[in-house]
Amino acid sequence: MTQGSAVDPRPAQLRAALASPEWDIIVVGGGASGLGSAVEAATRGHRVLLLEGHDYAKGTSSRSTKLVHGGVRYLAQGNVSLVREALHERGLLRKNAPHLVRDLGFVVPAYDWWAAPFYGIGLKMYDVLAGKLNLGSSTYLNRDKVLSRVSTYQPKGLKGGILYFDGQFDDARLAITLLRTLEDFGGVALNYAPVTGLLKDGEQVRGVRFRDEESGQEHEVRAKIVVNATGVWVDDIRRMEDPSVKPMLSPSQGVHVVVEKKFLPGDSAIMIPRTDDGRVLFAVPWHDHVVIGTTDTPVPQTDFEPRALEEEVEFILRTAGRYMNPAPTRADVLSVYAGLRPLVKNEKTDGAGSTASLSRDHVIRISKGNLITLTGGKWTTYRRMGEDTINRAEKLGGLPERLTITPGLHLHGWSEDERPDHWKVYGNDAERVQQLPGADVTLHPALPYTEAELRWAVRHESARTVEDLLSRRTRALLLGARASMEAAPRAAAILAEELGGAGAGKDAAWQAQQVEAFRQIASGYVLSSGA
Ligand SMILES: Cc1cc2nc3c(=O)[nH]c(=O)nc-3n(C[C@H](O)[C@H](O)[C@H](O)COP(=O)(O)OP(=O)(O)OC[C@H]3O[C@@H](n4cnc5c(N)ncnc54)[C@H](O)[C@@H]3O)c2cc1C
Repeated sequence: MTQGSAVDPRPAQLRAALASPEWDIIVVGGGASGLGSAVEAATRGHRVLLLEGHDYAKGTSSRSTKLVHGGVRYLAQGNVSLVREALHERGLLRKNAPHLVRDLGFVVPAYDWWAAPFYGIGLKMYDVLAGKLNLGSSTYLNRDKVLSRVSTYQPKGLKGGILYFDGQFDDARLAITLLRTLEDFGGVALNYAPVTGLLKDGEQVRGVRFRDEESGQEHEVRAKIVVNATGVWVDDIRRMEDPSVKPMLSPSQGVHVVVEKKFLPGDSAIMIPRTDDGRVLFAVPWHDHVVIGTTDTPVPQTDFEPRALEEEVEFILRTAGRYMNPAPTRADVLSVYAGLRPLVKNEKTDGAGSTASLSRDHVIRISKGNLITLTGGKWTTYRRMGEDTINRAEKLGGLPERLTITPGLHLHGWSEDERPDHWKVYGNDAERVQQLPGADVTLHPALPYTEAELRWAVRHESARTVEDLLSRRTRALLLGARASMEAAPRAAAILAEELGGAGAGKDAAWQAQQVEAFRQIASGYVLSSGA
């Protein structure tokens, strides 16, 4: 084992999960909603256990556009209260996690004479709604200023544009930061622990049955109240209580492509206010690459690895190509990823109509047996969603009702120090990460990450698989799907070493199986004629 390495943390986590005869609150699901609720509960002094079926942020919470935003689009739809709340939360998150959230300027191009004043007025309203927590005032830019900020905008016919500000973040890293914050406050969390059933006292839901995926063993844990925060899978858990319950979600898929930074060389993002299907399209600089998306395609099923449809990729590249010069092509795509929106059906129409018009607000639903289901919403508002959920949980579970402290709570690692992007996400843990072996050994020439980051992820961030390491602890899979496949054998070797090596069953065959499992997943992020 490497000098100074920690012991495998999982046995202690499992023991802690099983130690309590009754938790105050059990949260099912380790995405934005579940982690936000668990942090809210733990910081109020409640005893909380979070169970995640796969890995933290494996679902939608690692597949976003990476924006901490009010949602300019929802303003255009007239949903002022949703935008105001999200802008408020944007401002809080910017203050509470400066190591993960940064201000980003967005340039909206105007190719018609009316466009700049039209969007300018809307974005002034956005400024006003943000109030004291505004990140910067929107301003009109003439044609030259637009091109100096976004040199790759198509110059032909360009009249000018508007600059406005929003926040940007690393979604999976925020999830891991919330996990660490939860643990700092005494909460217990376990990944690879899918909930397979609910425990009831009469009609009351009073706990869950879960499977430890690593041993295959089933366990039962009890709680005063259970929160179902399983994203697009909430209906599966609801059916465990009542098999006849009507589904509350109508999932829709959103796709992004990732290309090299040369397609958007400056610090500003692109916002195309109206695509052919009436949505907005973003191109945002992220970890020295560019993320372009997204789409809104209703889907009948909820896969853990949703696949981008050909027409979604074509749509993104076609739309981006109209505004970007040079236009990115299929061959330029380093990675393509898809995520599922947990959109809540309109109860009146039972979900009929397009998913683009379904509610982006979060919804809390209480079942007959007091199972609390939290879904919908967005990453930006995760804290508020957690606050609302725990307010309900305290009442329904007979817990002491306490005031929230999360509006001013600095998240784990809080730091305003400037560091290179991939170190910055660790905040004030960065120096400790850099002291681990391999801090100067890059994992792959096309990726910014070092071996030390992988060791840190196993020791302190509950990474269990090569996929956890390359997809969510680092973002290698999104920055280069092929490069990450090439890095997988080395990642597997480090993982095995950190978990105790061959003596602990992490031999060559185990490593080969890890690499193969990751390659299968990563192949879904490669475009057929891509990089
Ligand atoms: C394409 C796209 C772009 C987006 N962009 C943005 C953006 O830029 N900014 C923004 O603020 N929001 C954005 N959103 C919205 C935001 O990402 C989601 O609202 C949020 O991530 C949902 O989090 P969640 O925790 O509800 O669901 P998830 O992240 O899906 O988490 C649910 C978790 O439950 C687990 N689970 C499922 N079944 C079980 C079980 N039986 N037992 C235990 N665990 C289980 C899953 O493994 C998963 O980890 C975007 C969404 C999409 C789809």
